[in-house]
Amino acid sequence: MVASEIRALFAVASRPEVVSLAGGMPYVTALPLDLVGELVADLVATRGSVALQYGSGQGDLALREQICEVMRMEGIEAGPDDVVVTVGSQQALDLITRIFIDPGDVVLAEGPSYVGALGTFSAYQAKVVHIAMDDHGLIPESLEETISAVQAAGERIKFLYTIPTFQNPAGVTLNEVRRRQVLEICRRAGVLVVEDNPYGLLGFDREPLRAMRADDPEGVVYLGSFSKTLAPGFRVGWALAPHAVRQKLVLAMESAVLSHSSFTQLAVGQYLATQPWREQIKSFRELYRERRDAMLAALDVLMPPGCTWTRPGGGFFVWATLPEGLDSKAMLPRAVAERVAFVPGTGFYTDGDGKRHMRLSYCYPEPDRIREGVRRLAGVVEQELQL
Ligand code: PMP
Repeated sequence: MVASEIRALFAVASRPEVVSLAGGMPYVTALPLDLVGELVADLVATRGSVALQYGSGQGDLALREQICEVMRMEGIEAGPDDVVVTVGSQQALDLITRIFIDPGDVVLAEGPSYVGALGTFSAYQAKVVHIAMDDHGLIPESLEETISAVQAAGERIKFLYTIPTFQNPAGVTLNEVRRRQVLEICRRAGVLVVEDNPYGLLGFDREPLRAMRADDPEGVVYLGSFSKTLAPGFRVGWALAPHAVRQKLVLAMESAVLSHSSFTQLAVGQYLATQPWREQIKSFRELYRERRDAMLAALDVLMPPGCTWTRPGGGFFVWATLPEGLDSKAMLPRAVAERVAFVPGTGFYTDGDGKRHMRLSYCYPEPDRIREGVRRLAGVVEQELQL
C-alpha cells in the first residue's frame, strides 16, 4: 500500500491561504444542519435500542428498501434482497476486490480513473489495465481490443471498473449508445462490469441517465453512495449485485466489520423518510452548477493558449490538459507557492501516464474563490511556459 497523491496534498491544500481545487469534498454546509441534528437526537430518543445495537451484515432492511427507491430514479428495478449496505462505496470497492482478485488478475479501468479504486486494486495486487477514453467516456473499440490482447496473453480479466456518469477525475459521461456497446462487449467476453455511480444524481442539465445496471442485472455490480447526495460523514454507500455475488459480499462484510453502523444507517433512513431529499439533491445540483460555470468561465478567459479541459455536465471535476512539454506534478510545488492546489494527473493512472493532466474540482470553494484559484493557476502555467 502506498499513500495516494491526494493524501499527500491534503495538509498543504487545507491551509486557509491556499485555494484548493484539489480535494473532492462535498459542500455539506449547504445541508439543513440543525434539522439533521434534531433528527439524530430524535432517533436516539425513540429508537436508541436499535440504533445503538449491532445490525445485520447486509444492512438495515428499511434502508435497503429506500435505496431501491433512490435507484429507481436511474431506471433500476431491484429489490432489497440484492442490496448490501457498505461503509461508503469505498468499502464496496474493497469487498468486491477482495472477493474477485487473486494476485496478478487483471482489472480494466478507464484511463484516468478514480484514485481510491486504483489504490484498492493495487492493495490486492491486481494488475490494472487502462482503457482509453474521450469526451464521451470510455471508447468501446479500445475496450474490445484490450480485452482481446489481455486474453490472448493468457491473463485473467476479473472485471471492468467504470464510472460512466460524471467521471472522477475526467468529468465526462459515457453516452447511451456506448453504454449498450460496453455492456454487449463485456457480456460476450464474460467480463463483469462494476459500475461506480456516486455522482449520477448530480447532473446539471438533464434528468438522471439510465444506469448501466438497469439494462443488465446479471452482468453488472452497481455501487451507490449517499456521500454526495447527502453527506460523506454518515459513511453510507451500497452495492447492488447479482445473487451469488451479493451472498459473498455479505460474508466479506461480516468478516471485515461484522455489520455497518446501525446508528448512521438509521439516521440516513430517517432523513430519507422525513426530509424532502429530492429537493435537497436539486439544491446541491444548483449549487454545483454555479461552481462549474464559474470554473469553466474563468478557464475560458484566463488559461493560456494550448491548454484544454473537459466540460462536465454534472459531478465535481474538470480534467485539464497542459501544453506539450509541461509536467503537472513538477508544477505543483510552484502552484502551492502561488497559493493554489490541484491534483496532478499521474495519480489517476497506474502506468505513469497523465503527466500533462490535472484534476480541478469545483465542489468545495465558493465561486469567487474558484475564479481566484483559476487566476493563480493560469499565472503559474504562463510562468511554466516561459521556463
Ligand atoms: N467512487 C468514486 C468515483 C468516488 O469519487 C468516491 C469518493 N470520492 C468514492 C467512490 C467513494 O465514496 P464514498 O466511500 O464516500 O461513498
